[in-house]
Amino acid sequence: MEILQTIYNELVAFFSIGQVITMFKTGDYSVLNTLDGVLGVISPLIPLLLVIELTRALLFKKFKRSHYRIQFFIYVFNNVVGRFISIGVVGFIVGVLQPYALFNSSFTWYWLIYGYIVWELAHFVYHFLGHKVRLFWCLHSTHHAPEAMNLSVTYAHFFLEGPYADLIRTSICILLGVNPPLLFFIMFIDGFWGAFIHAGENLIKDGRLGFLQKLVLTPSHHRVHHARNPLYMDTNFCNLLNIWDKVFKTFQPEHHAIPPEYGITRTMNAQNFWDVYFGEFAALAKDMYKAPGITNKLLYLVMPPGWSHTGNHKTASVVRAEYLQQQPLQ
Ligand SMILES: [Zn+2]
Ligand SMILES: [Zn+2]
Repeated sequence: MEILQTIYNELVAFFSIGQVITMFKTGDYSVLNTLDGVLGVISPLIPLLLVIELTRALLFKKFKRSHYRIQFFIYVFNNVVGRFISIGVVGFIVGVLQPYALFNSSFTWYWLIYGYIVWELAHFVYHFLGHKVRLFWCLHSTHHAPEAMNLSVTYAHFFLEGPYADLIRTSICILLGVNPPLLFFIMFIDGFWGAFIHAGENLIKDGRLGFLQKLVLTPSHHRVHHARNPLYMDTNFCNLLNIWDKVFKTFQPEHHAIPPEYGITRTMNAQNFWDVYFGEFAALAKDMYKAPGITNKLLYLVMPPGWSHTGNHKTASVVRAEYLQQQPLQ
């Protein structure tokens, strides 16, 4: 019966419904008056939406096992490996860097706005580096491997990407005065929205979300980010507010005539766990091995994916610029 208990525990953890179950069992709904209580009720929404998305795909006969298989496998793998790795990065950074914060904010609405703008900047920095520094791309590329969009893509991440992302994001936020409770609240909203923008066409056909696309980053914007079409490569790095994409000129709306083609440009097998998880490391090792001289070898680590010591670069910026030159958009 132990196996049943394990499965039950895994399901409760996946759906984040521990708190909801406790609430029903004890009949004590007063927890809903607290921030923690409300967050506990919001947490199950993404897994629930994923189930709805899956069910709809099944009902409308659009379900393809290959659209979910690898993400599911990665979720299980990260869960198992994650148990052996303490991800105390956030706690560690808060402890070490807080004494050096420029100033101290508090939990008020205006600091929330400030905190969110700083958080988005920190997220932009982490995400931009994840696309522009080859070594970091090795960590981030797992998330870009899926060739269809759906909520399960939220769970497709290399297990070290979380600690790397939080190292950068937490450091910037703490140093720029975002206080820890505010930061954790922002992280929660970010986690929820960051998952929601992976809603696929089976759940929300037109991901633009009407007038909302003018205010926030929508599933449509994030579909563009996951696309390998030359026009869409390396755009829309933000998560909820796309101010920094607009400031740094990486903002790209979905073009009606250009449906996103999901995945990465390297020839790969998106159905092979090892290729999805370690393929970029292997490709990097191969390039470094072939490059002449130690300088060239080291440059491969820090230059953008597609950079070549021969000068024949195939980086996203080069490919996109060539595309725009050939067919300037209306
Ligand atoms: Zn990305
Ligand atoms: Zn994504």
